[in-house]
Amino acid sequence: MRVRGYIFILMPELPDLLYIQRHLSGSLKGRSIAAVEVKQPVLLRNMLDVPPGEALRGLSVREIEQHGPFLRVGLSGDVDMVTNLMLAGRLQHQKPGEKAEGHLCVAWMLDDGSSLRLCDERKMAKLYICRTADTGSIPRYGTQGVDILSHAFTREKFRTLIARNARRQVRVMINDHAVLSAIGNAYADEILFEARIHPKTFSGRLSEDETGRLFDAIGSVMAWGAKMVEEAARPIQVKVREHLKVRNRKGEPCPRCGTTIRREGVRGHDTFFCPSCQPPSRKLFIDWRTAGKATPHPDAE
Ligand SMILES: [Zn+2]
Repeated sequence: MRVRGYIFILMPELPDLLYIQRHLSGSLKGRSIAAVEVKQPVLLRNMLDVPPGEALRGLSVREIEQHGPFLRVGLSGDVDMVTNLMLAGRLQHQKPGEKAEGHLCVAWMLDDGSSLRLCDERKMAKLYICRTADTGSIPRYGTQGVDILSHAFTREKFRTLIARNARRQVRVMINDHAVLSAIGNAYADEILFEARIHPKTFSGRLSEDETGRLFDAIGSVMAWGAKMVEEAARPIQVKVREHLKVRNRKGEPCPRCGTTIRREGVRGHDTFFCPSCQPPSRKLFIDWRTAGKATPHPDAE
């Protein structure tokens, strides 16, 4: 983020994908594919029985849709291209003569002379080409949880999901794309900071008030993230992160209270939080039967 180059290994999150989706919809809709060049076949999952160049040539872009961590480009002829940018993949759309930024893996030449490019230094991104009817068989595409931007994501639904995931740490639960589609590592930290909830709290221990705060924070933080990315108005290959309050800010003062932000591992993922604004959960009411006894707190480690 602050180190140049590091920007390339930030996983795109929902606000980034919405920004890319909106921009590509504006510039690619109606364009047709003149040629395709696959420089890194390791990224490609071609589910059609013809080579991509042959299958895609002449097809035009009908729609671009975000689905969890995926971007789906719907083409004429009932063909879809679906990307999962993973850790370092970046889509770029360049005018004639403009060079790709980074390690070029796949290039689509369009009928107006512009190019759509997929670059990835780590070659971990995935590009699926399939029939529209077959998108459900793309790994994890059909098993995304509740879309947090949809009307299906209600307070009631969220309570049900909390109950179903009671034994999981809340940071792990909200980051699970099969539960909520889709919150990445950066915004999971920002959401918990906004809701003032410690990342290691077990979902089943969230109070009614905390559950409500968490639900509200998911909506407000994602809307704020999308607005900040939009306002930054950078090229679509840049991941805008400067606005984040706790993510990757270990050792910096909390913007709310000034306490030093900490980083801890939760199930193999780094999580950043303010130990003062997000204290470990405590029972809301004193249990008078055990008051005064040195009973260890159930969440103590
Ligand atoms: Zn704080």
